[in-house]
Amino acid sequence: MQLHYIANAGIASTSGRTIAVIDPSDGQPFEEIQRGTAEDIDAAVHAARQCFDSVYSRMAPVERGRLLARLSALVAEHADELAALEQRDCGKPTRQARADALALARYFEFYAGACDKLHGETIPYADGYSVLTWREPHGVTGHIVPWNYPMQIFGRCVGAALAAGNVCVVKPAEDACLSLLRVAQLAAEAGFPAGALNIVTGYGHEVGDALARHPGIQHISFTGSPHVGTLIQQAAAERHCPVTLELGGKSPQIVFADADLDAAVPSIVNAIIQNAGQTCSAGSRVLIDALIYEPLLQRLGRAFEALRVGPAAMDLDLGPLIRQSQQQRVWDFLSDAQVAGIPLVAQGTVVDEAPDTGFYQAPALLRDVPPGHRLAQEEVFGPVLVAMPFEGEDHAVQLANGTPYGLVAGVWTRDGARQLRMARRVAAGQVFINNYGAAGGVELPFGGVKSSGHGREKGFEALYGFTTLKTVAIRHG
Ligand code: NAD
Repeated sequence: MQLHYIANAGIASTSGRTIAVIDPSDGQPFEEIQRGTAEDIDAAVHAARQCFDSVYSRMAPVERGRLLARLSALVAEHADELAALEQRDCGKPTRQARADALALARYFEFYAGACDKLHGETIPYADGYSVLTWREPHGVTGHIVPWNYPMQIFGRCVGAALAAGNVCVVKPAEDACLSLLRVAQLAAEAGFPAGALNIVTGYGHEVGDALARHPGIQHISFTGSPHVGTLIQQAAAERHCPVTLELGGKSPQIVFADADLDAAVPSIVNAIIQNAGQTCSAGSRVLIDALIYEPLLQRLGRAFEALRVGPAAMDLDLGPLIRQSQQQRVWDFLSDAQVAGIPLVAQGTVVDEAPDTGFYQAPALLRDVPPGHRLAQEEVFGPVLVAMPFEGEDHAVQLANGTPYGLVAGVWTRDGARQLRMARRVAAGQVFINNYGAAGGVELPFGGVKSSGHGREKGFEALYGFTTLKTVAIRHG
């Protein structure tokens, strides 16, 4: 049985209750986590505050950097163990789980090097004054993490928060927290003082809500659904607590007739099947120049037909979805498509070895999806790619921007001027030209516009969000 991790020790919940952890590959319980309470959150915030006041806020930035560097090395050393935990918990194929563990190590490595490079400024002002700015940590930061990429999302927000001098209370998703509980032990082994990194497990409406409302939390980073993001922002607004929200997306891949299709096809397929489509930045709409609509659909269709889905340990193209309700959600979208007469171009295959009790879904490619249909507007969060044709740049931009979201966009064209025009006109936090995701570089700031959220994670930009700027003006005598 797993315990919370508070002040570098395993602690049972005051509830005396646990939550079963289910393996999505066979639908069976295999572990238990604590069902946390508001009192558990209170204990974690208290431990974090004590750590901040007595140790962490006094530590030189270079020392924080050394701790993060040691943690990065330990995560890399334990990459196989962490990947195995995440694989069982989330149903990730082996290569994806391992890539996530290495990405976590890379986040800590990047932020280790950034700790002592977070400068303020001096500002030229009136005669007799010296004006300077300091970047100060918020203090105790709260982190609410979803189940789709626990290690990566934890790495990017906790890495940046610790680097900027904050201490952390983390609420992982109830569906997937095993890897993070292990990383917290590694953080203690790396030398982080008791209370710098605390993990409280449990349900969102219980511990997540308690964390969002706790008066001892000075900043909240939330990654998850737009609905819960709204609740978090409302709770934080009650006490004017700053919030970073990373929410969903309905990200377009826009393919012009002059695109290099040999490069575009595998990238478009990968962007919707990675993590079985349960990725906020999934490229879930493909907007295709009418001039190449039919030939590109044929190529994508052939690629979809070759995709295989099975138990995570088989390391196929896709593993299972996280839980039965997520599977039902995808089925509901697909049956709506059928009712609306939206044509199915192609589907992958669930292999025979996949147990009936697992949460499997073959990836599907749909065509001629009306732009106003919910399949073209709402996030499925599963392996469903919708295709629609466009005629000319203006039409492409209108379709690309015609959803409530604005997280990522991919643009495929060889025309340099069009590359820049499209990058300017598409409403998204990041635009990738002739690639999608830039191989996940941790250096690249990441976040959304519109209902995809606000604030930026990753890169140096994230450090600014985890600090508050103090202006100091000295008048010389
Ligand atoms: P979710 O919003 O239900 O849960 C996310 C986290 O919030 C979990 O830890 C959950 O326990 C917690 N939570 C739930 N209710 C809460 C409440 N009332 N108060 C406080 N916390 C609460 O989302 P999910 O189903 O876990 O994840 C899927 C969603 O997350 C998708 O919409 C996806 O697009 C989004 N997502 C976004 C990003 C990004 O970077 N933009 C990354 C991953 C996932």
